[in-house]
Amino acid sequence: MSDMLYFDHAATTPVHPRVLAAMTPYLTQVFGNPSSVHAAGREARKALEQARDAIASFMDADPQSLIFTSGGTEADNMAVIGGAMAQRERGRHVITTQIEHHAVLHACEYLEQAGFEVTYLPVDKTGSVRLEDVKQAVRPDTVLVSIMYGNNEVGTIQPIEEIGVFLQEKGIIFHTDAVQAFGVLPIRARQLPVDMLSVSAHKINGPKGVGALYLGRKVPVSPILHGGSQERKRRAGTENLAGIVGFAEATKVATEEMADRVAKYEQMKAAMRAVWEEAGIAFHVNGHPTNVLPHILNVSFPGVHTETMLMNLDLARIAAASGSACTSGSLELSHVLVAMQLEDEIARSAIRFSFGITNTVEEARQAAQTVAQIVNRLVRSK
Ligand SMILES: *Cc1c(COP(=O)(O)O)cnc(C)c1O
Repeated sequence: MSDMLYFDHAATTPVHPRVLAAMTPYLTQVFGNPSSVHAAGREARKALEQARDAIASFMDADPQSLIFTSGGTEADNMAVIGGAMAQRERGRHVITTQIEHHAVLHACEYLEQAGFEVTYLPVDKTGSVRLEDVKQAVRPDTVLVSIMYGNNEVGTIQPIEEIGVFLQEKGIIFHTDAVQAFGVLPIRARQLPVDMLSVSAHKINGPKGVGALYLGRKVPVSPILHGGSQERKRRAGTENLAGIVGFAEATKVATEEMADRVAKYEQMKAAMRAVWEEAGIAFHVNGHPTNVLPHILNVSFPGVHTETMLMNLDLARIAAASGSACTSGSLELSHVLVAMQLEDEIARSAIRFSFGITNTVEEARQAAQTVAQIVNRLVRSK
């Protein structure tokens, strides 16, 4: 791994050394079940609640409002399916967008099978949802709206506050998937007009397999896991204590470093663009020009298709991504780029670079130079 330039942090990140150190005792010495009443259980319970307090303070939420889950996917499923099911006697219409993560989109498709109607809102060319479209889609039987905070493929930040204020007036429950925004933008749950918000540890240098759903007071949600009475009877199953402790430590490190990280990512973006401009190659940055997550750069190189670029980058030991799902060698266009209605050649040549804490500006420059060489070699040889 050490000789690899890793620019796929929107997919996952390495565990921070401080996170690993914080977790280790909870896999070995403090292994009690937080539900047990003996001393070992009580010690585990104490660690669990301290971790909850730390994460709650990082996102300005009441600790009681955090439900630990197995990750962002489960938090999204709980919000969308649990939120809709709890209100199914009131109405069976849900609104989401065409650019959500599959954890929301496929949960919505499940709701359709269960008798709900779902409206999938379009986006403009920058990948932004329009408040006007939300207003037009709302019906008397709308019970839930789910719109992501920042998009994982192109990074566009959505007008969550505007939309939330409108939905609050209408009394409609509002969920946002903040998995990508968490850790790079200040998320203050208490001050946001949202009822539910999903986060995940492994996108912010915590361990995989743990996340949380922020659940505002009196928000109706049916559990999707049934069993013990953990998490105030909202999410059954023995808590992933070591993971949760690691998640808490990741938020502490992020608190200390957020401003520096964001500044570095901005420099990395600027450095890459400068290399491409200097090399005189054609490129097109996708997503909103300014309202964008700092760690995501989605860029197209007309003439070099996504899979060709990714393969050539991989040969050069550079890890980047497409937003697209590669099925049996044929590249399906990403649903996000399709929703943005980009020109075909732009959509077919899009690459996502996503930055993380171990990356340097020099690494970004190096990767950009490799990209320029690949473009020059492939476009000129045509
Ligand atoms: C990664 C991601 C998820 C899924 O989170 P997991 O913890 O991997 O299940 C959901 N939404 C967005 C926007 C993501 O980037």
